[in-house]
Amino acid sequence: MVEKLIIIGSGPAGYTAGLYASRALLEPLLFAGYASGGQLMLTSDVENYPGYPEGIQGPEMMMQLRAQAERFGTRILDRNVDSVDLSHRPFGVISGDESWQAETLIIAAGAEAIWLGVENEEVHKGRGISTCATCDGAFFRDKEVMVVGGGDSAMEEATFLTRFCPKVTIVHRREGLRASQIMGLRARDNPRIAWKLNRTVTGWLGAEGDFRGARLRSTVDDSEEDFTCEGAFIAIGHKPITSFLGGQLETDASGYLLWKQHSMTSVKGVFAAGDVVDTRYRQAVTAAGMGCMAAIDAERWLEAQ
Ligand code: NAP
Repeated sequence: MVEKLIIIGSGPAGYTAGLYASRALLEPLLFAGYASGGQLMLTSDVENYPGYPEGIQGPEMMMQLRAQAERFGTRILDRNVDSVDLSHRPFGVISGDESWQAETLIIAAGAEAIWLGVENEEVHKGRGISTCATCDGAFFRDKEVMVVGGGDSAMEEATFLTRFCPKVTIVHRREGLRASQIMGLRARDNPRIAWKLNRTVTGWLGAEGDFRGARLRSTVDDSEEDFTCEGAFIAIGHKPITSFLGGQLETDASGYLLWKQHSMTSVKGVFAAGDVVDTRYRQAVTAAGMGCMAAIDAERWLEAQ
């Protein structure tokens, strides 16, 4: 059987594409991944998605988006896509030892956290160092921790961690923050948050299972210091999840998929939406908007064939 549309990804982009495509009677099949819901499953309060004046918990919002997509007939498989074959139509989608075929694809696979890649990181990954305060914050109750980064994610993670931790030190490589005004101010006003600005992490301290802190280097005068803490959270941004595409779609130098015509990628019939293409906005609401665009484009393209 050849599907009209397969959607890969289950963040706001994927589910919104499912919502629009199912209402357009494309009967989309959506691969949600084993851990469905995308990055918002790792978020606590979402305060900037229109329509929720009191805010909403990220996981709850994703359950609602999923239910809304399903209501109109989106079929959802909670499995990962291992690879795709875009060499001819219908396209192939491979998951485990099964494969599916589709006339069109929407790639909405999102992005994943970037690690620093400095000395001793592998040793402490997941035990001492995390990229997700919402997931791991509670393990650091009553402990002093640090957060690396100066963007919204770092401010959000640090603010969230002060629920558990008496002291959270933000380590950022320059004086100014990249974070939005409101998130930066909230962190600056928080008495539990301390700052180590103009510093980078050059390595992590302590043996396996015994995390001790970070070696910091000043970006002003190159001086070094050992900073002691009991846990670290890295919040320096994300990279697009595209390895399963095997280089079959054109990307920019950082690996983000390129839109060629509206939301269509370099392969005709393959569309992309959300963080996998978005180098600039990366918001839940923009991802949802792009999911809508991709579904409308896929529908029109199919109709024109
Ligand atoms: P980001 O805005 O790209 O910020 C990354 C931060 O990490 C920057 O401050 C950057 O420093 C620093 N950094 C990058 N590479 C580094 C390295 N190798 N060593 C040390 N520091 C490094 O990423 P983000 O904070 O994850 O946010 C991504 C997007 O999601 C943004 O558009 C943001 O608005 C959005 N977001 C929104 C919310 C919200 O509104 N609630 C929450 C989270 C994220 P420089 O500043 O020096 O480049």
